[in-house]
Amino acid sequence: MNTIYVVGIGPGAYEKMTVEAAQVLKSCDVIVGYTVYVDLVKEHFPGKEFLTTPMKREAERCELAFREAEKGRKVAMICSGDAGVYGMSGLMYEIGEQYPDTELRIIGGLTAATSGAAVLGAPLIHDFAVISLSDLLTPWEKIEKRILAAAEADFVICLYNPSSRKRHDYLQKACDLVLRYQKPETVCGYVKNIGREGEEGHVLTLEQLRGTEVDMFTTVWIGNSQTRELRGKMVTPRGYRNV
Ligand code: SAH
Repeated sequence: MNTIYVVGIGPGAYEKMTVEAAQVLKSCDVIVGYTVYVDLVKEHFPGKEFLTTPMKREAERCELAFREAEKGRKVAMICSGDAGVYGMSGLMYEIGEQYPDTELRIIGGLTAATSGAAVLGAPLIHDFAVISLSDLLTPWEKIEKRILAAAEADFVICLYNPSSRKRHDYLQKACDLVLRYQKPETVCGYVKNIGREGEEGHVLTLEQLRGTEVDMFTTVWIGNSQTRELRGKMVTPRGYRNV
């Protein structure tokens, strides 16, 4: 049986890739992925064949992986972070319906929510909600509903895809929704280029976050009512000191 490994490579730096992911990539003949991710790993896996497709060609990329596997080659499809968090593993199963003779193995990776949390301090210690602000695949009304529900339930909120060229004011809109339930001084943070060159973490208030412009290589954390700033870091207490 042919096998495709769907591999989360972590946020960027080779050191942040799991040992399992590195071993799998080392053992494969072909590595398929979005150009940016292939460029991140290429130097560490000499001798492999690299196949890329540009952004928004996800289905094509999956087909390419299955066609290579059908030739009997050992294939890895790479994604940033974890392939199961706004990644390609779901689509690989869907497209895989047409390729019943190819087995899929998913190799988990370090997702931006947790790798970036480590940069900011300890923002996720308790319950948290992860929401993508991209309305390419989810209607904005639904995104709004999820933000409001998470804010009302006092979750720490981690926002993926907080911005793009066409969506400058989405972070501001998201902050306005959270402000219906949380105070303007709520502790927040954002990290740009986690585990990559130019990594930059910032801790700030919800009100300040509202006026901040971030790019698509940034992840954002909005604290809950308990989140505090300690040593300049973003910390959500779990409540150990109250028991
Ligand atoms: N599968 C990825 C998420 C892909 S969605 C994962 O598990 O991390 C793309 C979004 O993820 C980006 O817009 C950004 O919000 C976040 N992201 C992914 N890698 C990042 C990095 N190295 N630094 C900052 N944010 C990142």
